[in-house]
Amino acid sequence: MEFRLDPSLLALAREATAVGRAAADRRPIREDGWLVGHDPDLALELARRSWLGMTWPTAVGGGGRPALERFVVFEALISEGAPLASCYFADRQIGPTLLQFGSSAQQERWLPGILAGTDTWCIGMSEPDAGSDVASLRTRATPDPAGGWRVTGTKVWTSGAAVADWCYLIARTDPTAKPHAGLSELVVDMTLPGIDVRPIVDQTGDRHFCEVTFDDVHVPADHLIGEPNGSFRQVMRQMEHERGGIDRLVSNRRMYLDCLPFVDRSDPRMRQELAAIESGYRIGRLLVLREVVGQAPQQFSAAAKTACTEHEQRVATFCGRVLGARAQAWSPTEPSADDLAFRVARNLVYAPAYTLMGGTTQILRTIVADRLLGLPRA
Ligand SMILES: Cc1cc2nc3c(=O)[nH]c(=O)nc-3n(C[C@H](O)[C@H](O)[C@H](O)COP(=O)(O)OP(=O)(O)OC[C@H]3O[C@@H](n4cnc5c(N)ncnc54)[C@H](O)[C@@H]3O)c2cc1C
Repeated sequence: MEFRLDPSLLALAREATAVGRAAADRRPIREDGWLVGHDPDLALELARRSWLGMTWPTAVGGGGRPALERFVVFEALISEGAPLASCYFADRQIGPTLLQFGSSAQQERWLPGILAGTDTWCIGMSEPDAGSDVASLRTRATPDPAGGWRVTGTKVWTSGAAVADWCYLIARTDPTAKPHAGLSELVVDMTLPGIDVRPIVDQTGDRHFCEVTFDDVHVPADHLIGEPNGSFRQVMRQMEHERGGIDRLVSNRRMYLDCLPFVDRSDPRMRQELAAIESGYRIGRLLVLREVVGQAPQQFSAAAKTACTEHEQRVATFCGRVLGARAQAWSPTEPSADDLAFRVARNLVYAPAYTLMGGTTQILRTIVADRLLGLPRA
């Protein structure tokens, strides 16, 4: 089957490609720009173009536009490597979560900053001893006799925490409840006293994610989102936004396209790998589109994310083979977006992250087996 986007969508995609390419050209790293590339000016530009909150209701200031319009814009931006990290988490999952679970007052308070591209958010879920198993997290929020909550604990791998204005934090609010039942979601102002953010250097030398400690941080009562102690259901919904999108497929697409001229097409193994990647890309895109148009069953994003991120890893390995020793011999002293060997080498080192962040492949396969296919547990 061949799906064609109508001309207005194609025109929008071309416009977004030009914006994304210009923004990516300003930075030393193109790949994975939605996660590692912070560019507050680009966030403002997207807001000016009404490309933030595109699908949100007009009543809250959103664009009220079809999901396919948002899809083509972000597919183009992310494929080009646009540095979207200042606004992407908020647009992708915080805004939709506030729309679903936040009160009107909370929506009025936090959505405008997201729509204006001025507020950067981070997600405080994982902890040193709680990654895959969210239910075991220990950061606690205890009621303050004077009102509100006192938060103490440590979060880790918090992307963008060093530049974030707000943290969407999951904390234990009822230590006596069953592990899944005692969690709540709090919006925390990252400038509050008691918060310490320490960037972590990843394997590529980048420092986009952080360890964040909260030491008796006071959070107002009206910063609790949704149901007290009811976070687990809300987190599962939030993860659907996080897992099923185009960002899981095209983070290194530009690099792949830039490597294509160097592929030895006389080599049958390379031709086979090209065919596998081209098929994987098309299948992944259809899986994402199914999410976008609302035709995927609940939890299907686990399957989409698994297929798409394994595709991104395959692309990284393929590009490494294409450039061969050039990529292996790259020196980290002068990173440059024009240096394809640097980009490929960096992406090879970065690639394990694709199937870890947002839920590991092992955990997602278990979700597919358990909740989508209903297979018996061993
Ligand atoms: C680039 C990047 C950015 C990130 N950004 C954020 C962020 O912004 N906010 C945030 O909260 N977190 C973030 N994370 C953390 C990410 O969500 C966790 O790394 C992930 O959930 C896995 O948790 P963990 O690292 O503790 O590994 P663990 O849960 O300890 O898992 C270790 C290994 O054991 C396997 N495993 C664990 N349990 C099972 C099981 N029951 N069955 C089978 N296998 C199992 C896992 O699949 C994995 O291979 C980020 C991670 C990365 C790599």
